[in-house]
Amino acid sequence: VDTIERLLIVQERDTRIARLEREIKDIPARKKQEESRLKEHQDAVAKAQTELTAKRAEIKELELESVSRQEKIAKLRQQQLEIKTNKEFKAMEAEIKGVETELTKLEDQELVLMEDAETGKRVLTEKKKALQEEEEAVLTHARTLDERAAEIEVELKSLQERREAAAAEVDPQYLASYEKVHGSKHNALVALEEGVCRGCHMQVPPYVVHESKGRNSVVYCSHCGRLLY
Ligand SMILES: [Zn+2]
Repeated sequence: VDTIERLLIVQERDTRIARLEREIKDIPARKKQEESRLKEHQDAVAKAQTELTAKRAEIKELELESVSRQEKIAKLRQQQLEIKTNKEFKAMEAEIKGVETELTKLEDQELVLMEDAETGKRVLTEKKKALQEEEEAVLTHARTLDERAAEIEVELKSLQERREAAAAEVDPQYLASYEKVHGSKHNALVALEEGVCRGCHMQVPPYVVHESKGRNSVVYCSHCGRLLY
């Protein structure tokens, strides 16, 4: 097995390590994103609850107003009994009618509000149900992500061991060159195809192409320093 083949094994493992490291690094952000989805549902429940509470407070207020009108009517009726003249009686009757009209209006308003409150109650129930379902989904997904993270940890540990074992087989001089150039985003070891470095896409000088054809020879790209095969 020549140096290039050994280095290719190291590189293949480095690539897989880098991919897994990216994936595991992404997991907390993905979990956070899930939780923000939950936040929307929590806000919707809170909003529905606030609206329903406000409606109920309005109803309570109307009820108090209705009671005060009813009391007023009862009081006027009581006073009406003691009235002596027809004229005063009629005037009192008109006053009572006026209060009764107000009372009817309040009761009508209350009916509308009670229907609104019924709707609000239904909406709240729906939003709570949606939140609960979402919570379960988020929990399940978070568990899946945690399991994946644990899997990656195990895989990484084994890959790193195998990577070190492969690296130990490479001539230290070439391994050092490789490690100097290799990055998480680009390979240090690239193909030399028709005189062009596949890393930087530049034409390398003819002597490099010539040297690369020798047995077990490692050459470098004169532009980017990558190792060529
Ligand atoms: Zn190059």
